[in-house]
Amino acid sequence: MKLEIKKIKEGFTNLAKQKLNMADEEIEAMARDRMSICNVCPSKLKSGRCGECGCVLAAKTRSPRSSCPINKWNQYETNKTK
Ligand code: SF4
Repeated sequence: MKLEIKKIKEGFTNLAKQKLNMADEEIEAMARDRMSICNVCPSKLKSGRCGECGCVLAAKTRSPRSSCPINKWNQYETNKTK
């Protein structure tokens, strides 16, 4: 549970940084790759959430430790998650 909260916080923090033009390019590249998969996934909802887990995809895709609930993309290895 603690790790799930940490992942959610991490994703929304990185989303806020992107909105403030303070984004980390490695995180943004990861998010673009993941979102390109989500954008063609039948589980993506019009609201921008994942229909499998209910997460906000703009944040979930920016959380390196998060993964797709049906294994379409995985956790991302980066020094920033250590
Ligand atoms: S997280 Fe996975 S299941 Fe959800 S919309 Fe993206 S690819 Fe589809």
